Amino acid sequence: MLIVKKFGGTSVANKERIFNVAKRCIEDYQAGNQVVVVLSAMGKQTDVLLDMAKDINPKASRREMDMLLTTGEQTSVALMAMAMDSLGVPAVSLNAFQVAMHSTADYSNAKLKRIDTERIYNELENRKIVVITGFQGIDKYDNYTTLGRGGSDTTAVALAAALHADACEIYTDVDGVYTADPRVVPKARKLEAITYDEMLELASLGAGVLHNRSVEMAKKYGVQLVVRSSLNRNEGTIVKEDTKMEKMLVSGVATDKNVVQISVEGLENKPGVAFKLFQHLANHNVNVDMILQSVEHGGKQDISFTVTEEDAEEAINTLDRHKESSLKCDKTTVTRDVAKVSVVGAGMMTHPGVAAKMFEALYDCGVNIRQISTSEIRVTVLVDEKYVEDAAEAIHDKFSLEK
Ligand code: ADP
Ligand code: ASP
Ligand code: MG
Repeated sequence: MLIVKKFGGTSVANKERIFNVAKRCIEDYQAGNQVVVVLSAMGKQTDVLLDMAKDINPKASRREMDMLLTTGEQTSVALMAMAMDSLGVPAVSLNAFQVAMHSTADYSNAKLKRIDTERIYNELENRKIVVITGFQGIDKYDNYTTLGRGGSDTTAVALAAALHADACEIYTDVDGVYTADPRVVPKARKLEAITYDEMLELASLGAGVLHNRSVEMAKKYGVQLVVRSSLNRNEGTIVKEDTKMEKMLVSGVATDKNVVQISVEGLENKPGVAFKLFQHLANHNVNVDMILQSVEHGGKQDISFTVTEEDAEEAINTLDRHKESSLKCDKTTVTRDVAKVSVVGAGMMTHPGVAAKMFEALYDCGVNIRQISTSEIRVTVLVDEKYVEDAAEAIHDKFSLEK
């Protein structure tokens, strides 16, 4: 079997953990498998590097930022290969350039386009464990790129697809995918299995246990994933496209504090106004999430929308620039202390009443809803950030998701 095993930052945070991972990989190797290991930077090293850059130059170019961030993963793969070697097993570390993992040129948010497999196959045939840097790629001019925070999961899935791996295992610091972030809702329960679509919604709505693009890619290429802990032997969660799986009414609750709400008040109520507003934002690469348009009042209307904290400044500057000339609004307001709470479940497609039940839970704990958005298998509400944990817990209780 060819197995791709990915270990996150906490799993390789220190010497003891590195040897723990090395031994787990060696077990598979000695059982006769071909083993490809994908690693993240050790512990919080990516954050440390970000702080170092900020200290030197808060306006550093995105190219140099990626050049810096890729060193985190390069450190962990080299140390891992050394650890395996010291245990008597031949291993080789490779970075994105050496493998050749080709990506787009969008620094800090690049997408993998193609992976050359020849070098990896050669090393595997020489009976080496191949340890590869997660989170990075190279663009067509051989500049290093990174795939976005949490992107090592995506590297692992992309490698599993390119190598037609028999298994893709994502090892982390929790036992699997839970009905909510166990740090936010301690009563959360581990799921045995979850569909790609549900996992994609959860990951996109703040469940950081998997990078959302890794789930997208797993679905596209039919890569079945197992999410499990590197710190114990408990069975994890399988992420797959199983139509036979019981469609859970609600499979999980996700929270996301990385949200800013922007309201544009007193816009004219006529065709083309929303178009202009969102066109300006799109032209400045601002990603808009939830949108709410008010009913008309005195010939005017308001439009509120949410963006991530990273995009907020660009959004505000864009609105300021076009406020008088093009948008002709009365004023814009920015609310930073808001958060999203979402429920996700494939069973929602066929069972009514999920939104009502969620709103009842929020009513029970006295949390006001600022904005609502839905998809076929999800309901999201925007609430004041200080209530987000209470809201998540109340909703989790309401749907009886606890252990
Ligand atoms: P790694 O470094 O291994 O990639 P991450 O920190 O990226 O680990 O992801 C694991 C974390 O995801 C957990 O510690 C947990 O707090 C968080 N998390 C958020 N939502 C969920 C969820 N639904 N199930 C499990 N973990 C979750
Ligand atoms: N080291 C990167 C990060 O911290 C990538 C990853 O961990 O997946 O975001
Ligand atoms: Mg992660």
